[in-house]
Amino acid sequence: MDTDRTRGVLLGLACGDALGRPVEFMSAEEIADEHGRLDHMVGFGTWNQPAGTITDDTEQALCIARSVAEHGEFRPGDVADRFVDWYDSGPFDIGRMTVRSLSRLKHGATWDEAGQQVWENSPEGQNAGNGSVMRCAPLAIPYAVDWDTLVDVSQQSSQITHADPRCTWGCAVLNLTIAGLLENNDTPLADALDYVSSDAPDELTEALEPVARGESLDSLETSGYVIHSLQTALHDALTATTLDDAIVTPVNRGGDTDTIGAIAGAVAGARFGASHLTERWVSAIGEANELETLAGQLMSSTK
Ligand SMILES: [Mg+2]
Repeated sequence: MDTDRTRGVLLGLACGDALGRPVEFMSAEEIADEHGRLDHMVGFGTWNQPAGTITDDTEQALCIARSVAEHGEFRPGDVADRFVDWYDSGPFDIGRMTVRSLSRLKHGATWDEAGQQVWENSPEGQNAGNGSVMRCAPLAIPYAVDWDTLVDVSQQSSQITHADPRCTWGCAVLNLTIAGLLENNDTPLADALDYVSSDAPDELTEALEPVARGESLDSLETSGYVIHSLQTALHDALTATTLDDAIVTPVNRGGDTDTIGAIAGAVAGARFGASHLTERWVSAIGEANELETLAGQLMSSTK
């Protein structure tokens, strides 16, 4: 496997997260008024943090990556413990389903119960957020050539906080797509959708099939609904002509900018490789060295 592409997954995720962080919740028009085309790391804004600050997307991806690097395999209970430790550190950005699930974990629920209970108590419209697809990409590296296991671990990583099938299968499709890119496949999203077509929810596959066919889509949504976030991020990551554009385009659409940027960054990082990232972005991110080290460790954990 190509080390530049594996580093690209983790660094691309972090760059999309950090670029989008100061403009999260803003509209495209508001971003344009304030920044023109936002293509560099700026400080303050939403969450009032210094330039290059990562958020929950990268923090939770780090929990997964550190756990797999340490144990040489995905252990959902250990990842759940790390999520709880991170929650206890008082993060400034954390999603609603994640707070509720991690709180249940703290009070004794097991890794496969907490998210399930929260999901069963959430109405349609508030039950399928993007909080698990934004963090699952590290798993695509060690399990890139073992697709059955990659599907299982991706779904389990979602189940900890997001048990809806659109979320668990969304993680599987995203990671199969990244795995295909790491293996240099020409049609990574189409291959991923083929692989899960008999099991994944129709709503998910129907939203992503036009993206896989390379159709230009008129309206791309930027909400935190997992299907909107995945459709927009995969569209931008797979159609951009440069890695920077694959990240800058979704961030400038507004809405859930950090998460859609993070998903697009992980996919496009696998597509282009970390050496294509703007150096000033990477050097703004305090966790960049650790992310590079982890990418190497995840590769050597390859099953
Ligand atoms: Mg975030």
